Amino acid sequence: MQALTQFPPARAAGLARLARFVPRAGTDYARRRNLDLGPGGHDHVSGLSPWLRRRLVTEEELLASVLGRHSPVAARKFVEEVFWRAYWKGWLERRPAVWTSYRAGLLRALDRVQTEAGLRQDWAAACRGETGIDCFDAWARELATTGYLHNHARMWFASIWIFTLRLPWELGADVFLRHLLDGDPASNTLGWRWVAGLQTPGRTYLARPGNIEKCTGGRFRPEGLAAAAPALEGPPAPPPRPVPESGRWDPGRATGLLLTEEDLAPGSLFEAGLAPRATAVLSSVDGLSPLAVAPHLLAFVEGAIDDATARWAARLGPVTRLSCADDIAEWAAANGIEQVVTPYPPVGPAADALAGRDVIRILRPYDAAAWPHATQSFSSFRARIPSLLDGIGRPAA
Ligand SMILES: Cc1cc2nc3c(=O)[nH]c(=O)nc-3n(C[C@H](O)[C@H](O)[C@H](O)COP(=O)(O)OP(=O)(O)OC[C@H]3O[C@@H](n4cnc5c(N)ncnc54)[C@H](O)[C@@H]3O)c2cc1C
Repeated sequence: MQALTQFPPARAAGLARLARFVPRAGTDYARRRNLDLGPGGHDHVSGLSPWLRRRLVTEEELLASVLGRHSPVAARKFVEEVFWRAYWKGWLERRPAVWTSYRAGLLRALDRVQTEAGLRQDWAAACRGETGIDCFDAWARELATTGYLHNHARMWFASIWIFTLRLPWELGADVFLRHLLDGDPASNTLGWRWVAGLQTPGRTYLARPGNIEKCTGGRFRPEGLAAAAPALEGPPAPPPRPVPESGRWDPGRATGLLLTEEDLAPGSLFEAGLAPRATAVLSSVDGLSPLAVAPHLLAFVEGAIDDATARWAARLGPVTRLSCADDIAEWAAANGIEQVVTPYPPVGPAADALAGRDVIRILRPYDAAAWPHATQSFSSFRARIPSLLDGIGRPAA
């Protein structure tokens, strides 16, 4: 599987990539990060998102490594990009209705695919990379084979999907979630909303042929792209709810650890004294879409889980794979467990699976520090980055 050859689902592979990238995370990144030179040519960005997404490598570790090598001024652009992940996560966590409404819009769009003449063919052609727009078709194929796209390609792809092909944006966001190894409810939904003009009302992103030509090193100069990007209409974002409080476990009670695909870095829990009697693993990655997710995504998540449970075997107790959240109670009873602790699952399928269940959700200090500031635009969040960096240590992953 090409995707897993490029992005092996193991912490060691993520750390090796991090070590190779760190020397380029300073002014080199600021100058060249917008270049998309295609599969095998993504050396101007880190390519670390698949590992960061599952926390096989943590954002804290990444920031500490980069700032151990570069001054905050030289690494400013890269550091800001890293914080986009926490910003989007916090923004969505505080407005879960935006995820619910995306899911409802996706179901409506899939229904339209069944009933509207021509829509099924157009949608299928876009997914398969058969639109005749050479750059778009190349990105669709890159996505399907490698599970990764450069940030600029994601922006162009989303813009062409919405404004040139005039397809429902939710169908495009769904194609990304089903194929990206880093597919993430927050970054993806809000990235697509941002391109469409729903996230920052009235402001859209238009893919321009000259910019594509320049930033792809002349690989493409598409013709026939939309010349304007009128914003889609949607309801205003709801006001933010408070940041969820972290739960606390009782060290005197028999404890079980529940790991999900959202956060495979239990090291900080062990440092804080968690000593599980047994561990259960639950993956909800197939809940990212009502359609089937790509085999390479399922394989990446399975590999990431195997890697994390092998590395932490001495701390986990017996490990049980659960097929659904309904099995948690039976697993806990069978192991004499009185309380179940899990790293906090942010808005998405894992959180949906655990909704209403008696599980203690532990919010990572990194998220707890960042999310209170995810209320307005990124520019107001950006002003908090220096103080957020002050609080970063090097927790075990
Ligand atoms: C329409 C659209 C959809 C997207 N969908 C996803 C998604 O499902 N999952 C996902 O992880 N990212 C998503 N992104 C954000 C971004 O494109 C990727 O995080 C980035 O391209 C990952 O590649 P990299 O690790 O080489 O990035 P680098 O440029 O090396 O950046 C380093 C890290 O910073 C963070 N980062 C950088 N840019 C962004 C950004 N715009 N938003 C959030 N975090 C960022 C990521 O953790 C990334 O790994 C999307 C962006 C757009 C425009």
